[in-house]
Parts: sequence; structure tokens; C-alpha cells
Amino acid sequence: MNKATRKTIIAGNWKMNKTPAEATELITAIAPLVKDADCEVIACVPYVDLYPALEAAKGTNIQIGAENCHWAKSGAFTAEISADMLASMGLKYVIIGHSERRQYFGETDKTVRDRVRAALDAGLTVILCVGEYLEQREQDVTAEVVRMQTKIALMGVSAEEMSRIVIAYEPVWAIGTGLTATAEQADEVCGIIRECIAELYTNEVAEATTIQYGGSMNDANADELLSKVNVDGGLIGGASLVAEKFAAIVKAASK
Ligand code: PEP
Repeated sequence: MNKATRKTIIAGNWKMNKTPAEATELITAIAPLVKDADCEVIACVPYVDLYPALEAAKGTNIQIGAENCHWAKSGAFTAEISADMLASMGLKYVIIGHSERRQYFGETDKTVRDRVRAALDAGLTVILCVGEYLEQREQDVTAEVVRMQTKIALMGVSAEEMSRIVIAYEPVWAIGTGLTATAEQADEVCGIIRECIAELYTNEVAEATTIQYGGSMNDANADELLSKVNVDGGLIGGASLVAEKFAAIVKAASK
């Protein structure tokens, strides 16, 4: 395992928070706090915040991403946003398959796969979320669940395209609950995902893939989680909405 060969990425997922004016304010507050970061820093924001966030992030080391995209290039999909639309704004990143999309909006492994395809075709880098429900962990099927989600989402993704895939392991029971996976649990499952990528592609591809942990990561637990060999960063919900907390996680990832 050589963690140094992989990009460490700290990405915020703002979810349905912040108005456009508040987005400008938050990016402006985060920027000076993370300017010396030794990792990639991303804020994935609601669609209406993309433009103000991009403007506020100009000249900083913060990259802006979206929280979802549709699988079709265009068409009769009222209120949806295509990957091409996002790419045309100059965005690089998009989150796909977040558990809140799976839980509340009918997202399936197949629609995740279709969105991944569309995002890659548009030239975007995907932050692909996988993770088990509490009952699945209790039934000891976490490995099977994350392996299945990973395999289906990556169907048709070439080894070359894997350089534009980041995986976020997000146990559903830890998202927004204040419950965090232990560093050992996070490391174990990120390692299982890495093994799965090695089986699908090669060891080199697996070793080069950034695998984040997400689920109540905060300024107090980031150090320990990020010290683990298979944890290459974090996808941060709640703590990404507070400049100082988000910056503290970026600092922990920069050590
Ligand atoms: C998330 O939304 O991806 C997330 C990890 O949320 P939180 O940090 O609030 O648990």
C-alpha cells in the first residue's frame, strides 16, 4: 500500500443548504483558511449556488462541484441538469449515488451507473458514493453491498477512465447522525473497495484510486480517520457548512 501515490481529496457536500448569497459568503470564508492545503479541496454545492461559488472560488485552490447530474444528454426531463451543462460551466467534479439520492429519490445501482457514464462522457470527475445500511452491517453483508454497488456503478468504465473516479465510502448509518465509523471500520471497508477495483482492473489502478470516507467526519475525528492507509480523504456534509470546521479537516488531511 502506498498512500503517497494517491491524491488526498477533502470534498464538502453542502446538500440542500445555502442560498447563492450565502454560498459566496462561505466560499469567501473558507478560501483563506485552506490556501496552504496539501490536498485537493472541493465544495459540492446546490445547482443554484454553482455560479456564485465558482465566482467566489476564482483564484483560490477551492474547486467547485455539483451534487448530481442526469444520465441523458438532453431532453424532456423537467427540472433535471445534464452532465454537459455542468461541464460547460467549467466544473470538474460531480457527486453521484449519494445515499440520500438512493433513499429518498429512487436512485438505483443502474441509474447510478448511467449517471456515472454521462458524467465521464462529459469530461467530469465522479465522486461515487457507496455504503451500507445499519441492518446490512448488522447482518454482516457490508462487503457484499459495497462490492455490488461498486461493480455495478463501474460497469463499462475503462481503466483509463478510472483516473476520473473517486469513491466515497459512506456508511448510511453514519451520515448526518453524529455516529462515525471507527477508523478501523472505515479503513477495512475502503480496503475492500480497493480490492474490488484491483479485481475489476489492476493493482496499479486500485493503488491510484482515491477512496474517501464520509459519515460525520469532523474536526475532532478527521486526524484518526485520515491516518488510515486506505482512507484517502473525506466527503464532508455537516462540517463543510462551517468554514473553520471544514478548514480543520483540510488541515488534518494536509499533514
Ligand atoms: C454526506 O452528506 O456525504 C455526509 C458524509 O454527511 P455528514 O458529514 O453530515 O455525515
